[in-house]
Amino acid sequence: MDILIAEDDPVSRIRLQRVLESFGYRVTAVENGAHAWEAFDRAEGLMVAILDWMMPDIDGIELCRRLKSDPDKRYHYVIMLTVKNRTDDIVGAMDAGADDFISKPFNADELKVRVRAAARIVRLQEELLFKANYDGLTGTFSRRMIMDMLAREAKRAQRTGASLTVAMLDIDYFKRINDRYGHSAGDAVLQVVSQRVVKELRATDLVGRYGGEEFVLILPDCALAAAVEVAERLRQAIRSVPVESGGEWVNVTASIGLAASSSSAESPLDGQAMLDSADRALYRAKEGGRDRVQS
Ligand SMILES: [Mg+2]
Repeated sequence: MDILIAEDDPVSRIRLQRVLESFGYRVTAVENGAHAWEAFDRAEGLMVAILDWMMPDIDGIELCRRLKSDPDKRYHYVIMLTVKNRTDDIVGAMDAGADDFISKPFNADELKVRVRAAARIVRLQEELLFKANYDGLTGTFSRRMIMDMLAREAKRAQRTGASLTVAMLDIDYFKRINDRYGHSAGDAVLQVVSQRVVKELRATDLVGRYGGEEFVLILPDCALAAAVEVAERLRQAIRSVPVESGGEWVNVTASIGLAASSSSAESPLDGQAMLDSADRALYRAKEGGRDRVQS
């Protein structure tokens, strides 16, 4: 775990760094708030920040407030370092979003347990984030995550003029599978189908579980004709081998609806509108007899 120290007093800064390094942490130490702010952008693994309250330019409180109110910044556990220990000062620090505080001069044993507690919270936070971003059953992205990615990819395609195709994939007669073979068979089908989909796609393609038995696929830099070929390959891969569950073999097919960005689009590219269009194509694929690709 990486720890950032922002402290303008060199004696305190060096002592903090040495003590934390002796505990086995990787430490980045900076002497003012501006450098600390830059470090938050640079350091990938940085999770815990120990910020001195009183610093020139950007002080610890201001830094903490900026960090916590910036939606592009990931979660950081902030420990405020302060000579102040009046209750209302501490309340002020907590109000700014600080997670904990340590009074100066610090005690090494106390620092150790505080940082250990911070590491525990950071790990929990990471776990929560993982659960929010991935579907627990299939390991594909969660609905929320794939929708965020769709919005981002639509913006990118708009900016660069690259093609973009969105697919909506739905497992055919999924309710019948659940009714006939049970829910664990349904779960196995969802897992195997998502594996087959991921295996057929490029590393740059994105897959998320949209709901029940429905998946959203985002194919960046992929125009409609190429996407139809990809979708056909997926469809074949899904139906190629029945899915085994509890000694039974379940035949599985899927229908896929596609929507591609048009290069001549005058209105801004809208991910949600593309998804709606893919959904309408999926509906036509279902109407047309299922186990097919429709654009
Ligand atoms: Mg200071």
